[in-house]
Amino acid sequence: KEKVPSDIEIAMAQTPKAVTQLAHEIGLLPDEVESYGKYKAKVELSVLDRLAHRKDGNITPTPLGEGKSTTTIGLAQALGAHLGRPAFACVRQPSQGPTFGIKGGAAGGGYSQVIPMDEFNLHLTGDIHAVTAANNLLAAALDARMFHEGTQSDKALYSRLVPTKKGKREFAPLMFKRLKKLGIEKTNPNDLTPEEITRFARLDIDPATITWNRVLDVNDRFLRKITVGQAPTEQGHERSTGFDISVASECMAVLALTTDLADMRERLGAMVVATSKQGDPVTADDIGVGGALAVLMKDAIKPNLMQTLEGTPVFVHAGPFANIAHGNSSILADRVALKLAGTEDGDSPDRVGYVLTEGGFGADMGMEKFCNIKCRVSGLTPDAVVIVATTRALKMHGGGPDVTPGKALHETYTKEDLVTLEEGCKNLVKHIENSRKFGLKVIVAINQFSSDTPAELELIRKKSLEGGADAAVVSNHWAEGGEGARALAEAVVTICEAPSEFKLLYDSSVPLAGKIEIISKEIYGADGITLSELAQQQIDTYTRQGFGHLPICMAKTQYSFSHDPKLKNVPSGFTIPIREVRLSAGAGFVYPILGDMQTMPGLGTRPGFWEVGLDVETGRVIGLF
Ligand code: ADP
Repeated sequence: KEKVPSDIEIAMAQTPKAVTQLAHEIGLLPDEVESYGKYKAKVELSVLDRLAHRKDGNITPTPLGEGKSTTTIGLAQALGAHLGRPAFACVRQPSQGPTFGIKGGAAGGGYSQVIPMDEFNLHLTGDIHAVTAANNLLAAALDARMFHEGTQSDKALYSRLVPTKKGKREFAPLMFKRLKKLGIEKTNPNDLTPEEITRFARLDIDPATITWNRVLDVNDRFLRKITVGQAPTEQGHERSTGFDISVASECMAVLALTTDLADMRERLGAMVVATSKQGDPVTADDIGVGGALAVLMKDAIKPNLMQTLEGTPVFVHAGPFANIAHGNSSILADRVALKLAGTEDGDSPDRVGYVLTEGGFGADMGMEKFCNIKCRVSGLTPDAVVIVATTRALKMHGGGPDVTPGKALHETYTKEDLVTLEEGCKNLVKHIENSRKFGLKVIVAINQFSSDTPAELELIRKKSLEGGADAAVVSNHWAEGGEGARALAEAVVTICEAPSEFKLLYDSSVPLAGKIEIISKEIYGADGITLSELAQQQIDTYTRQGFGHLPICMAKTQYSFSHDPKLKNVPSGFTIPIREVRLSAGAGFVYPILGDMQTMPGLGTRPGFWEVGLDVETGRVIGLF
């Protein structure tokens, strides 16, 4: 067998076509494309209006296993370059945390990759930086506001908040929003009573209730807990806070879930950062920063167009993690892709295109959130789900020893071991059953590794079909590119032709704790949940504040169906401990934190950045995998 070169060698050996040419090929007009360098472009949202009349193409999310990105790209290459269908892959922008931490690149692998892979993995077009900037502007605004409220009288505060223009006091546009919220129907600042002035000028934030952290796109464990305000200039306004990774920011979730500019502006302004001493939620708009946040993110909202190794289109947009965030690429990228892949009256059915949108981590994470959060917001429904399975992951669930990055694999993983594999197939079957709970048709993509034996691949296929999958297909796109995923692509086309009956797992009207319990029992297989005192208190507050209708975004380990990464395969007899519950009012979900889940990853002893370097002769990036 020919040896497959490293991901970066393969990626660098292929010269991408100009993104303007790609844009033309997929039917974008020159006006709709804004190039960022030669190989990346942002796509204007106006394309949605131009193609509003088109019927959408098919949509297929792919969760679970090793090689989700690789399979998404391989399948897109097979559909687009080998079956001649319009086919779009929609993937997330990778966080630089894992890129330099444990994982290396996330552009797929082998002969199924997004290129240029270094640009994909690094700054792309700056969307994550925009998220970081917006998040931290709000954090700065919050602390500054508390500082000023703490050091000034009501009147002084008010006269600074409502400055005079040409000798007349004037409200800034955003202030009317706050007045309305307070039930004060006045347009002339001079008409406010002293009591109204106090209510207007003082947000009276209870520092103990602040939930807004700063963020950074670096795995920096030392920022998990910090003290701010220690300089003498802050006059003793010290407080303890922390950093999350940028992709866990609510601004990122907003980017992923928004449907247009106006909607993004509303969501950013509605983000709740704390509760006032009177018990009311304090929002970004209350602090006066919602408009500025929208300005910082106005370009980030446009999906980024890139290409696969075989020249088919890929949208890279938004990048929430699937464990501590909702783990799906943007609704807008899916929408644009669905229109570009769609048909007009009179088109032949063969023209129907496909949108493959990736959900992160296992089907208990990325897929559950894809359905219960993303589809609930977008109203789009998937035609089928592709679950990616590997012998390696299943053997691990079947009792194989731990797999440690950088260390040689145990024999179980490199030699035929049907016993361990069969045991681990129970994990896959549970994911298939979970997908069925959403009414989804299931295709298992068996991502072939060179050490897999025919008997092993056949065993997974058989177990998948017995477990309720509609199809299970071995796919060798990593070694062969799109051609290796031809059979998988044909299965996807066939399965998508049958109608599907997508349904959500819970109704929005179920109380928050009830929704958390439904996910825990139905998807994780838990006996129930336990709420810490803090979590119960937060649920009560958010319910009282009117957020009880929001869907749930569980922050949970990706290594187990349970909250405990050590419980492999299909654990039973456990309850899910809810440590804390956060509110993402702008993104539109409530975010329980399970067990000891961290929202800022750390770096190991031997991080990925050790391999990364620059060939200073050519300026090329090396070692990104
Ligand atoms: P995920 O999206 O599930 O995290 P990726 O698609 O990013 O996984 O793949 C992770 C790594 O595994 C990549 O470096 C990729 O090259 C490698 N990989 C994926 N599929 C295969 C395969 N069939 N054989 C060998 N390596 C693979």
